[in-house]
Parts: sequence; structure tokens; C-alpha cells
Amino acid sequence: MNALESKVLSSQDEIEAAIETLLKALGEDPAREGLRDTPARVARMYREVFRGLHEDPLKHLETQFSADGHEELVIVKDITFFSMCEHHLLPFFGKAHIAYLPDGGRLAGLSKLARVTQTIAARPQLQERMSAQIADALEQALGARGVMVKLEAEHMCMAMRGARADGSKTVTLVTRGELSDNPERRAETLKLLQD
Ligand SMILES: [Zn+2]
Repeated sequence: MNALESKVLSSQDEIEAAIETLLKALGEDPAREGLRDTPARVARMYREVFRGLHEDPLKHLETQFSADGHEELVIVKDITFFSMCEHHLLPFFGKAHIAYLPDGGRLAGLSKLARVTQTIAARPQLQERMSAQIADALEQALGARGVMVKLEAEHMCMAMRGARADGSKTVTLVTRGELSDNPERRAETLKLLQD
């Protein structure tokens, strides 16, 4: 995405105009009292909710530290995230559970994994792609020997419409490196992410 495109995408005015058009197309009167500030409010909200379009998740992993060759699993569970399904522009939200095997003791701060997850979530997304992008970030920035990302989420597009399967959870799993290839490691890590 070039600079001009990203400027247009995050333009308050453009989004406001689009929301006003949408309200009219739905048969609403954007001038009535309750809706008067809605286009501006929604535009500000969308710019916040989709801020991840203009952020590089890897920037959260620039600060690394070394823990004396700690080569064992690092696991962060229950990272809360909110995202927007790109098929319906409705929220999906839930928990991310992340495990990685550090290379030569190269670690990221634990809170940084939450930041990476939240940046990647703040885009029009698919849960499957989101899982893969988190795994990519850990592989690229830390050179992790293995990565496992499990996301559990509820999709409002399934709850509010269509199947109306409210309360159902979608689980995605992405594994890389040793946590994909080594069956023992993989099984052990999966179990740790489950408990
Ligand atoms: Zn959807």
C-alpha cells in the first residue's frame, strides 16, 4: 500500500461520507437528531478499529532480549483480541494462545505478543489468516524454531445472521517449524495450550 492509498483509507471525511451514503441507502434520514453525529462517530471508530492496516506488527518485536540461551517453550495464553470479519464487517473476538521455541534464547517481551496480536486483529480479517500472520511475525522477527498459534473466537456474522449459531466457537491452529514437524513437541504444546 502506498502513502496516498493509506491516506485515503484513513481519511475521516471519506469514511463519514460513505456512512452517510450507507444510511440513506438503508432508507434512513441521516439528518434526524439521533443520526446527526453518527457518520463522524463511526468514521472515528473505524479508523481506530482498522488502525492495524497502517501498522507493522513487527515493530512490536524490535526490542528483544536474551535469557541465557533459554531454548524451551514460551507460552502466552488468553490474549484477548477483537477483530472484524472481512466478509461481513462484523466483529469476531476471542482469545489467542501463542507458543514459540526461541532461537538461541532470543525472546520478545510477553506483552509484545499481545501487541502483535492486537495489531494484526485491527484489520479486515479472516481468523485463519490472522493465525498465520501472528506465526509469520514470530518466525520473521525472532527466528523462532517453532511456533504454534491457536485462536478461539466467536463470530457475530454467525450469531446475528445466517446460521444464528450464537455461542459457537471457531478454533484455528497454525504450527510452524519444530512445533509442526516434531510430533512429540507438537502434542505436548497442544496440550499445554488446552489446559
Ligand atoms: Zn463473516
